[in-house]
Amino acid sequence: MSNSIELTQESYVDSIIERVVVRNPGETEFHQAVREVLESIKPVVELYPEFEENGILERLTEPERQIIFRVPWVDDQGNVHVNRGYRIEFNSALGPYKGGLRFHPTVYPGIMKFLAFEQTFKNALTGRPIGGAKGGSDFDPKGKSDSEVMRFCQSFMTELYRHIGAQTDIPAGDIGVGNREIGYLFGQYKRITNRFEAGTLTGKGVDWGGSLARTEATGYGLVYFVDEMLKDIGETFEGKKVIVSGSGNVAIYTVQKVIELGGKVIALSDSDGMVYDPEGIDLNSVIEIKEKRRGRIVEYLKTHPSAEYNDNSKNIWKIECDIAFPCATQNEIDMEEAKTLVNNGVLVVAEGANMPCTPEAIECFQKNNVLFAPAKAANAGGVATSALEMTQNSMWESWSFEEVDKKLREVMKNIYSSIKTTAEEYKKDGDLVFGANVTAFLKVARAMMDQGIV
Ligand code: NDP
Repeated sequence: MSNSIELTQESYVDSIIERVVVRNPGETEFHQAVREVLESIKPVVELYPEFEENGILERLTEPERQIIFRVPWVDDQGNVHVNRGYRIEFNSALGPYKGGLRFHPTVYPGIMKFLAFEQTFKNALTGRPIGGAKGGSDFDPKGKSDSEVMRFCQSFMTELYRHIGAQTDIPAGDIGVGNREIGYLFGQYKRITNRFEAGTLTGKGVDWGGSLARTEATGYGLVYFVDEMLKDIGETFEGKKVIVSGSGNVAIYTVQKVIELGGKVIALSDSDGMVYDPEGIDLNSVIEIKEKRRGRIVEYLKTHPSAEYNDNSKNIWKIECDIAFPCATQNEIDMEEAKTLVNNGVLVVAEGANMPCTPEAIECFQKNNVLFAPAKAANAGGVATSALEMTQNSMWESWSFEEVDKKLREVMKNIYSSIKTTAEEYKKDGDLVFGANVTAFLKVARAMMDQGIV
């Protein structure tokens, strides 16, 4: 290939990154996610000039629709509060918009857009016909009563309902949005529309349209993915020391599956701190504290006095381990934590959370031959199972746990093998970041080309 072609194409990618930064000021997480994808697909964009001719990157980095709305609600004391609600419908080339809702005080457009952008590629990797979206609010469910959360969810849905639907946009959970919130949201949707449209939301209760194994799916899928990576190097989870950050939905079911496969999880965290239990984390206690009581991870010490607690969540990465699963939030592992993990001999780092590792941390892992699994592939089991929930809803069927779990395992296996093959095709053996970005990009870009300039 001549130098001039290379230069033109490189400048196309660079100019798009620049354009995203200028057009979305202050939205650093969105800039980071776009830069990570675009820089890695550069060599592929070079090969297909038609992508530039059709403005694929300009369109791929601009959400199709962004909805921002007021969410007023009344607390238990009668005080009025106003939060901000979001739904970013990023890309519908492959199917109706699909992606979770996050309720967390840090939510702002930069986080919503990064998550929706990433979701577009993740959903493409699942092989299911779903586009990418994300939504949420800066509402903090922590410390709120059930009634307050219910009133907030009802107010949120009173605006959101007009933008969603089984053929349009199908929200699900994310940080701060679990079974309880999905229940309140669905109840309000049904009440306003007078329609029991199960396919409008996923993550529903199993008695009213939810899928068995959806709760477990992101964590289980993550472990299935890493199991495939380990098999490739003749290894298993048996006897491995494992660290999982967070102690929410993704973390808990990651721990459960790791233990089932013979690994030993020795540390967990929440936003206040981390626990280290060299005997192996007792998952039942964690479920009791976090899922049943909505308590804090420090309470683990009440029943396990020999465990240690540290009030800096980031110190979890200082513990020596074979496998690290960041399952809490974005940018939780930076260069410093990455170096510590590498120096302690980590074998695998797999992202359960979305974008938990900074680009510098990823580079550090890759340079030091740590096996690295990027979020858009490794944590795609949740949305893939949401798509299975949609299929069951449209067929008026409920599959058994084993059936859904088996399909989830197949999906994860397929994602791993397809991104690994793509990396090999481009002579980037073992670079799953490249493999995932290119596989997903080509799928979305080609669908966009087929559908014209829309
Ligand atoms: P949850 O709300 O269930 O749990 C989040 C957990 O992370 C909580 O234990 C929370 O602690 C902890 N946490 C948050 N911020 C920090 C921090 N700075 N340091 C340490 N711990 C922290 O959310 P999920 O488990 O659903 O989501 C976790 C991640 O996985 C997110 O990045 C999400 O986008 C991603 N994800 C989730 C999917 C799903 O199906 N749920 C699917 C794919 C990705 P605290 O209680 O103190 O806030």
